[in-house]
Amino acid sequence: MSNKKTFKFYITLWIAKVSSFALKILRRNATYFPGKIALQLCPNFLGMLEKPKTIIGVTGTNGKTTVCNMINDILSKNKFDFINNKYGSNIDGGIATTLIQGSTFTGKAKKQLAVLEIDERSANKIYPYITPTYLVCTNLFRDSLMRNAHTEFMADILNKYIPKETIMIENADDIICSNIANDNSKIYFSIDRLPTDLEKCENITRDIRICPKCYTKLEYEYVRYHHIGKAYCPKCGFKTPKADYIVTKLDIKNKKMTIKTKNAEEEYDLINDSIINIYNMLAVIIVLKKLGFSQEKINDSFKGLKIVETRFSQEKYNEYEIITHLAKGMNPIACSRAFDYIRTQTGKKAVILILDDLHEEAKGSEDTAWQYDADYEFLNNESIKQIIVAGPRYLDSYIRLLMANISPEKIVYKKDIIEATSQLKLEDIEKIFILHDLYSIEETKQIKLKVKELINNKEEMRKI
Ligand SMILES: [Zn+2]
Repeated sequence: MSNKKTFKFYITLWIAKVSSFALKILRRNATYFPGKIALQLCPNFLGMLEKPKTIIGVTGTNGKTTVCNMINDILSKNKFDFINNKYGSNIDGGIATTLIQGSTFTGKAKKQLAVLEIDERSANKIYPYITPTYLVCTNLFRDSLMRNAHTEFMADILNKYIPKETIMIENADDIICSNIANDNSKIYFSIDRLPTDLEKCENITRDIRICPKCYTKLEYEYVRYHHIGKAYCPKCGFKTPKADYIVTKLDIKNKKMTIKTKNAEEEYDLINDSIINIYNMLAVIIVLKKLGFSQEKINDSFKGLKIVETRFSQEKYNEYEIITHLAKGMNPIACSRAFDYIRTQTGKKAVILILDDLHEEAKGSEDTAWQYDADYEFLNNESIKQIIVAGPRYLDSYIRLLMANISPEKIVYKKDIIEATSQLKLEDIEKIFILHDLYSIEETKQIKLKVKELINNKEEMRKI
């Protein structure tokens, strides 16, 4: 298909620009529809539109929003002039909207740098027209089965559509992700063996079990979680690659990590202590290095930066700590990581779970298989004193908790989130974890307010 701008292209661009302007005046969501209209009117629109010279793309199952947020915040802090789809969608319509808003009325790019979060499932609609300079792939896991099918299917479409000129930044500890786009230039990142790594995988699911080259059962030097770790095939030598950026020292207590490259060893401050976010930071550091940042400038830029509150927040309230953590219904890996994070934290805890796959924005779930792929067993832990399940999937979660052999006395199950939260027992606990969905931010706020009210009431009672 020719990318020469046609008359239809200009008409489409103007319609999209006017609609974007009108939606903004009406204070309607202008982050998806202008692009969607443009792609409907002119299917080759993205090909004809001039793109910024440097495009940083971020894809993968988990972590892409966090990685993009960190890059965007740091570039803004350092006064970079760039476009991004932070407030928009990460599928073709959203990306087209971002590029339309970043272009002139003649279809020229206004900015020369773009940071784009790209949904992995939309590869076929995006990469034929957009060539990222660098493409970060955070990891590849099973996600919503009805949307993403299987990781082999996802890997196939990424392999087919990622442009050959794109330099890949891939997670070397993920044997699926590290084998995407093998003909491209690559930069690999890894976290070296940790004391918490295991001999055998203790998760229910592992998305790759046999060698994709010779079909022999894969073995592991060590397993971190699911298929993440150092994997190898005992027969043909297929294995996770050697990384270019390796976290060699991880000091969670003092919030520091050392990254080793071929020529240097550098220390960075951690902004979060979960392994997933350390992988995310590592990917961000590589992108910033490629944009010319020094170690000092990166560390300065990370100062004061937080993981966005809709993903993770931590607050001390009287003698309690309230932690909110995104878990994502239909995404068993995100749930398992959150459950694992809770069990490894110190102190006595209560957990409030409002996982939801029936929300209209989640477009509804066709099945509850993800509940059985998620490691609810991790919540069967001495330090967890009470588990409250609420929301539309409360009964599914309740059954799953019972199947994990969690004592029924520990569990409260009620559909209404506030009624359920009212049953929180504050005696004998120090931390309250609220695990919520992408679509339950408002509900999470209400739960947090209710928890604070209960803590206040307890204080009042004590004074009397
Ligand atoms: Zn093999």
